[in-house]
Parts: sequence; C-alpha cells; structure tokens
Amino acid sequence: MTLSEMNVARWEKEGSITVTTTLIPKLRPGELLIKVAASGLCGTDMHICHGETPHASKNVVIGHEFSGYVEAIHPDTITTLTLGQLVAIDPNMPCNACTYCRNRKYHLCPNLSCIGVSIHGGMSQYVAVPVRAAVPVPSNVPADVASLAEPLSCVVHAVDLGEIKTGDQVLVIGAGPIGLMTMALCATGGARVTVIEPNEMRRKNALDIFGASAAYAPGDLVPGDTLKGEGFDVVFECVGRAQTMTDALTFAKAGATVVWVGVAKTDATVTVSPFDVYRRELTIRSTYTNPYGMERAVNILADGKIQWKQLISHKFTLEQFDQAWAVFRDGQGMKVCVTP
Ligand SMILES: [Zn+2]
Ligand SMILES: [Zn+2]
Repeated sequence: MTLSEMNVARWEKEGSITVTTTLIPKLRPGELLIKVAASGLCGTDMHICHGETPHASKNVVIGHEFSGYVEAIHPDTITTLTLGQLVAIDPNMPCNACTYCRNRKYHLCPNLSCIGVSIHGGMSQYVAVPVRAAVPVPSNVPADVASLAEPLSCVVHAVDLGEIKTGDQVLVIGAGPIGLMTMALCATGGARVTVIEPNEMRRKNALDIFGASAAYAPGDLVPGDTLKGEGFDVVFECVGRAQTMTDALTFAKAGATVVWVGVAKTDATVTVSPFDVYRRELTIRSTYTNPYGMERAVNILADGKIQWKQLISHKFTLEQFDQAWAVFRDGQGMKVCVTP
C-alpha cells in the first residue's frame, strides 16, 4: 500500500464482502474528505452482500453507518465545518430536483443515492462525501457512539410515525439494535414498553439498559381480546420477517397503530384480513430511511440519557473485517463496529 492508497471493504461478488486496496478519493467541489473513525455493520449490508438490495451498485464500498473526522475540504465548498471536526454521516443523498424533493418528502426521491449502497461508503479508511451529508457531533460524544446516529435517525422517523403519546402501551417485537433504540425512544418519551425477543441476553439488555418494562420470549405473551381494549396502542415490528409482521397485528388493540420497521426480503408477502383491519380500525405504517432525523439523533446521543455505548458489542479493525463479518453473520452480538 502506498501513501495515496487505502483499505476498503467492497461488494465484488454475490455472497461475500472483500477487503481490497484502492486510491484515496480526490475531492470534487462541494465535497469533504472524511477520515473514518467508526463504521457499523447493519442488516442492509447483509442484504447487499446477497444481492437483495436492488439499488446497490456492484463493487460499491459498503458502510452507511459511520462517523469520522473532516480531513480535507474542497476549496469550492460552502460549509461551517472545520478540519478535524467529528461528524456523523447521513448517507441518503436526494436529487433536489424531483417532486418529492420539492415537497418535503426527499426520502422518497426516486433518484436517491445512498453512501455505502449506491456510492462508495465508510467501510473504508477515507471517503469523499457531499458536504450536506456531514452532521457535526459535539465533543462529549465518542466517535463509535457517533456511528450510531444513522440507525438512530431511522428510529427517530419510525417513532414519529408511531405517534406515541405519554402513557401509551407500546410493544416492540425484536430487540436487535433497531428494536433497542426504538424502545429507548418510546420509554424516554413516556410510554410503557413491552418487548418480545428470543435471545435472553437481548431481553436482559432491553430491561436493564433500554427502558423496557416487560420482556417475553416469543410465544410467552398471548394476545388478549384486542376488541375489548387488551393489547397495545402502538406496535413496532423490528425484525423484518413475514411472521413477526403479522404477529404485530395480533397484538394491536382496536384503534392501534402498527409500524413495520424491519426490512423484509424483497419477495416476502403476508396475509392480512381487510375485515379485521376494518373492524379494529388499525393503522399499518411503514417507515423508510431517516428524513430530517440526523441532527435529532445526534442530539439524543449527546444528551446521554441512555447508555448508547452498550449497543456496540464488538469492535474490529478493517484488517480484521472477515472476523467482524463472521460475528455479525452469527447474529449473537449487537452492533459490530469497525474502526479503520
Ligand atoms: Zn443500516
Ligand atoms: Zn429527488
């Protein structure tokens, strides 16, 4: 490796992510060079690896959940950021030209490009990003915790769509990193949170650290008579499987909102009874990415009410990427973080 080269982890062929060497990117006007500090692995990376993300580009450097330091600023760039500033990266780049971008729904932009999915991302020593992507992080937030800002920003949007009210009974299905973030935001927002999760360690984390009041293994919580008001006001599905998507509906009391947060496989389908949805006046919502959520996520991390660091179970260097990927694929840890 020469001075102008760097290590990256990229999707070269279906079924694997490969660590290779490439040139450090040259900046274009409006871009920053980020020296990556911490980069998290996420279910989306597994979908990309297996060719299940339609908008993923071949040979793309993965990594869409990362933080880093501003290493260089192209001279033709308008920014208040300075060299050395820690930033969290918002990977979603809208076109700013379509009807959605013009009408406050830029996350639905059909020309959305995504750092780490369609353009080179942060599972890398350096990455060039548009200045819009870089959100400053206060100095009390460690760099690894700052890499949680992107997934947390998606959860901020999901919880907004659940329209939680103080005192609501909330059910979260799945206590992976997204489920734990969801319950933490609901609990700090004044809801009483119950969780369903098969992994005992995750149930314990949910209760001890992330604000859940009750935790059950699948099958241990029996849906009540939801027409008589038994069940939950808001249910968040944070798994992404057809079975848990329909389970979410069975626990929703009449008048409830169900938010499908988990990302299902592209060919998954579920059977829903329109009569049942009608009779119980259910609202079923989906949530896509993180519109206007990044700065709020950074504020929540900086506030420190939750021990966010506890979400990071493993740390590896980029040279150890294969180990990081194996631990991630095994699914027993929480967030697997790479510090290039
Ligand atoms: Zn992600
Ligand atoms: Zn657009």
